[in-house]
Amino acid sequence: MKKNTKLVAAGRKTQYTKGVVNPVVQRASTVVFDSVADMQEAISERGKRTLFYGRRGTNTHFALQDAIMELENGAGCALYPCGAAAISQALLSFLKTGDHLLMVDTAYEPTRDFCDKILAGLGITTTYYDPLIGADIESLIQDNTKVLFLESPGSITMEVQDVPSLVKAAKAKGVITMLDNTYGNGWHYRPLEHGVDISIQAATKYIVGHSDVMMGVAVANETLWPTLRENSYLLGQCTSADDAYLALRGLRTMPMRLQQHEKSALQVANWLAGHPLVDHVRHPALKSCPGHEFFKRDFSGSNGLFSVVMKEGHRKAINRFLDSLHHFKMGFSWGGFESLVTANASMAPLRSTTGWQYGPVIRLHIGLEDVEDLIADLEQALKVYQESL
Ligand SMILES: *Cc1c(COP(=O)(O)O)cnc(C)c1O
Repeated sequence: MKKNTKLVAAGRKTQYTKGVVNPVVQRASTVVFDSVADMQEAISERGKRTLFYGRRGTNTHFALQDAIMELENGAGCALYPCGAAAISQALLSFLKTGDHLLMVDTAYEPTRDFCDKILAGLGITTTYYDPLIGADIESLIQDNTKVLFLESPGSITMEVQDVPSLVKAAKAKGVITMLDNTYGNGWHYRPLEHGVDISIQAATKYIVGHSDVMMGVAVANETLWPTLRENSYLLGQCTSADDAYLALRGLRTMPMRLQQHEKSALQVANWLAGHPLVDHVRHPALKSCPGHEFFKRDFSGSNGLFSVVMKEGHRKAINRFLDSLHHFKMGFSWGGFESLVTANASMAPLRSTTGWQYGPVIRLHIGLEDVEDLIADLEQALKVYQESL
């Protein structure tokens, strides 16, 4: 079966759907058993797709988990109430006091805060490494290094990592690898096929796809799945059946949405690359993006997210630019059907190892609007930016 066919069929067992197309929305805390034998069977089948207790999921969750496992090609999938929870719980499932974590310097900001505030308080130390370090990561691996965490492309500045080199160095020293795959999302990139142990996503983004549900997923390989599953359960992670239903519904049309996001984003990115105010564009599919060669080698496509590095600017010009936009709404997150914008006057406060020697960064998510309207919107707002310099 090819990719699209597989995704249409994924997670649609009769056990979950009861004979219709989509799974039933099975809301539950308590699962009731008809006999002691049934109850004991449910206990002994913990971790399989057997109803046991609401926190372990119902048929709605099982359908979504099966579909995501297929998408990311993993041995198991845990669901979390948001992407940030998926990241923190995956880390907490494998780190203990005295351990050392290698975290990419371009990590999503709350991931960095989690390391600095929560993990540091537990006596777990973090070293931030250059996303483009490649095989030299070996020199940063200590005797107590337990986890190497990747995010590729990096948040906002979009550096693409050389995952095979990093994984090889980690494996040689018995270090677990995890990757925030919210960008690559299982459709254009499957980390487990490149040797990564756990792939994590904010399903909030393209899987849900409509900006109306928070959800996180983590897919593990055969070796780590039992620990990830059990420890996430003990840490109390679960999601509502309604949210699982909406995430699965979003997943069905994700490839088609991604195609349009990709096409429009490339048009806007190429237009911006020629704009006199722009220093360079950080779109993984363009040569001007650091790590572009790894993107070309490892990814099957891009999506609607990219950033623009300005030649010059300051907060006032950025604020007037943001206030001038009509179609791009100001807002965090991305991956919905709508265009969004955020901006950083400098990346320096968010980078401890790599620094930042360029101008302000504007991050765009290109939605499903007509691309001519989006370019016209940016054009008039960039005029306001220029007048404010
Ligand atoms: C949004 C995002 C997250 C967090 O997801 P939430 O569902 O908002 O908690 C994590 N990583 C990346 C790269 C993201 O963009």
